Amino acid sequence: MTIHLDCYGASGEVGRSAFLLQTDKKVLLDYGVKIFDKTGQPQFPLEGINPDFAVISHAHLDHSGFVPALYKGNKRLRWYATPPTVEFCELLWADSMKIMGPQLPYQDSHLNKALKDWTPVMYGQTLHTGDTKITLSDAGHISGAAIVNIEHGGKTICYTGDLKMEETCMHRGARPVEDVDTLIIECTYAFRDHPPRAEVEKQVMDEVRATVKEGGTMLFPSFSLGRTQELLSLVRKHEPRVPIYVDGMGRKITDIYMKHPKYLKDPNFFKKAVRSATMVRGPNDKREAVQTPGVIISSAGMLSGGPILNYLFNVNQDSRVVFTGYCIEGTNGWKLQKDGYITVDERDLEVDLPVEYFDLSAHAGRADLLNFIKWANPGRIVLVHGDETERFATELRDDFGYDAVAPKTGERLEL
Ligand SMILES: [Zn+2]
Ligand SMILES: [Zn+2]
Repeated sequence: MTIHLDCYGASGEVGRSAFLLQTDKKVLLDYGVKIFDKTGQPQFPLEGINPDFAVISHAHLDHSGFVPALYKGNKRLRWYATPPTVEFCELLWADSMKIMGPQLPYQDSHLNKALKDWTPVMYGQTLHTGDTKITLSDAGHISGAAIVNIEHGGKTICYTGDLKMEETCMHRGARPVEDVDTLIIECTYAFRDHPPRAEVEKQVMDEVRATVKEGGTMLFPSFSLGRTQELLSLVRKHEPRVPIYVDGMGRKITDIYMKHPKYLKDPNFFKKAVRSATMVRGPNDKREAVQTPGVIISSAGMLSGGPILNYLFNVNQDSRVVFTGYCIEGTNGWKLQKDGYITVDERDLEVDLPVEYFDLSAHAGRADLLNFIKWANPGRIVLVHGDETERFATELRDDFGYDAVAPKTGERLEL
């Protein structure tokens, strides 16, 4: 029986990951949104698809944010994900409802129905449904993030979701998957290697120490899911005493990280790091945070909102701003790094602090992607979740001899 893959998003782009794999079952792999396109508007995957069930690789909104839309019209549908993933989804979905409410084509009631139909699945556990078997393994990206391995009719298909092979402070990194027939792989950084982690950690800590020594605050604008916890661990690993303040949704996400220690590399260390930090809960904590030389980790990572905006204008002049994640063109984070200002309520505000960027990406760089592909030894490679998938496909075909394709959104592939 032929296996089909319908690509409903994240094909020739990053954002709105959505793939319908048709074996004897219709398996939806991720159902995400694109939060900003080039014009600052959200984009959604195709609606009206009718999967038998869904498997969500991890909670980042570009993989999970459209799941509630599956529950319009009183539908029942199982979706499988790890326990941390569903708890993160609950928070992130509610937050995107607050921020994008009227732009989202679903309502609170659909979100609540979706949460009721979640079915847990752990790493290493195999789901049997009809003649299709599905097993999740650790993707090394954020807590609960999974690589999805599918078997049907003697064929194996691996969908990576978002992938990190290198060890980080929080995770051990994904292990390679060996010998698959089809590899559907993210390639966010197909043409870029990240600098060695240890080197970046040292550079970040040099900045932290210099700032604190001068009596300033190191401000880390940070995504609440994943990066906040990584930065907290990183700073505490190297500096046992420097004061750390965590503000924004990252606090609640950190609580969920603590509830699922199995998904962390070193849960005891993380627990100690969290206990040693101040989770900012009110105006007194906020005041203390800006008056104490130390570190503030706060959302939003691209300065699109959140408590970080106030901190930017309240810390003293010896403070610095360090970005550790990618900022989409046109966002405040991008403007600040490029031109030294941000826009709030249509007013341009200058920020008079030194700004730097260090690469702490939670995605595999080029060398690791090539390594993962080598181990997987795939009969066919489907390149997704990248801006230059076409160019990477050409290179993999011409220089490495693989059968590689870069589908467009809306395309159907025969596997
Ligand atoms: Zn992700
Ligand atoms: Zn992603």
